[in-house]
Amino acid sequence: MIPVAEPWIGEEELQLVMEAVKSGWVSSSGRFVTEFEERFAAYCGARCGVATSNGTAALHLALAALGIGPGDEVIVPALTFVATANAVTFTGARPVIVDVCMDNWGLDAEQLEAAITPRTRAIIPVHLYGHPCNMDAIMPVARASGLFVVEDAAEAHGAEIRGRKVGTLADVGCFSFYGNKIMTTGEGGMCLTNDPALAQRMRVLRGHGMSADRKYWHEVVGFNYRMTNLQAALGVAQLGKLDRLVEKKRQIAQWYAERLKDLEAPGILGLHPEAAWARCVYWMYSILVKGEPGEATRLMAELATRGIETRPFFVPMHLLPPYRLDTRLPVAETLYSQGINLPSGTRLEEDQVDWIASSVRQVLGR
Ligand SMILES: *Cc1c(COP(=O)(O)O)cnc(C)c1O
Repeated sequence: MIPVAEPWIGEEELQLVMEAVKSGWVSSSGRFVTEFEERFAAYCGARCGVATSNGTAALHLALAALGIGPGDEVIVPALTFVATANAVTFTGARPVIVDVCMDNWGLDAEQLEAAITPRTRAIIPVHLYGHPCNMDAIMPVARASGLFVVEDAAEAHGAEIRGRKVGTLADVGCFSFYGNKIMTTGEGGMCLTNDPALAQRMRVLRGHGMSADRKYWHEVVGFNYRMTNLQAALGVAQLGKLDRLVEKKRQIAQWYAERLKDLEAPGILGLHPEAAWARCVYWMYSILVKGEPGEATRLMAELATRGIETRPFFVPMHLLPPYRLDTRLPVAETLYSQGINLPSGTRLEEDQVDWIASSVRQVLGR
């Protein structure tokens, strides 16, 4: 089976994880956590990094540190992984679901304003499947209404808007290092911010709310959202090859586009977008299967019989039991019914992409 994603782990990872194990610092003390925070923040161009146990914890930690809580509303896109909305729910606030746009599959800036109420405190744009959201349109709306912005960059390590890395373009940027993400620490996450005071609040909340200068003095109710030294060792090694991982994702995208782009004009497929202002990192190279309803599902089943693993797009938030709405959000629903993720692992070879693309064409009768 050709997998949709797989980690690229080599000798450097083994070396550093072994060093961490041998040092005896197997929990969250030890040199790798700070090193990983500093180096990942520097890579992205942010002042501070706060490593966490996973990406969902990073989102929750950011919202908690910004003081989001019961009675508040936080705007999230309809098309995302459920953790974005759940992190809002964990704080006691209510996620307000807004449709995405066809251009980049992220939050539709034009529909933002209408969703803002006196209770709105924050917006979480999600850089979906590696494509940056239109932050140039989102940030002015947020600032005009005095709202915080937390970027969910879990799927977009290294993605850029005109040379600036995502995750550094708002108040906090949250990353995931889960095993199928662009770089991994097994489980893991990080919050980036340019505000040292906010970083400090996140550090305190991450470690049971314990004061930095007085042992067992807990001024607030915190969490245990710490990253271990073992995870961070893996992260330092992965960060060393993040540019290569991103380059390979972009190479894979180019291979797919070369072999499928003639199906775009006749309206058979939609290809993964890349806006002129964006550098997409194609976490999962994705296509839209136009035509009859159910065609995407049929394609996925046929590809599976040829040993090609695919994934459907995320189920839009407003169709899930905890967040169900009666309103229709047409763009998210269309993307959901047509979208599939093709194999995008960084070990993928060009002849495998050949085989996948020709299988897609065969199944679609092209
Ligand atoms: C993976 C992901 C998360 C959650 O990350 P975990 O590390 O699995 O907790 C959050 N948001 C998005 C968009 C993701 O893809």
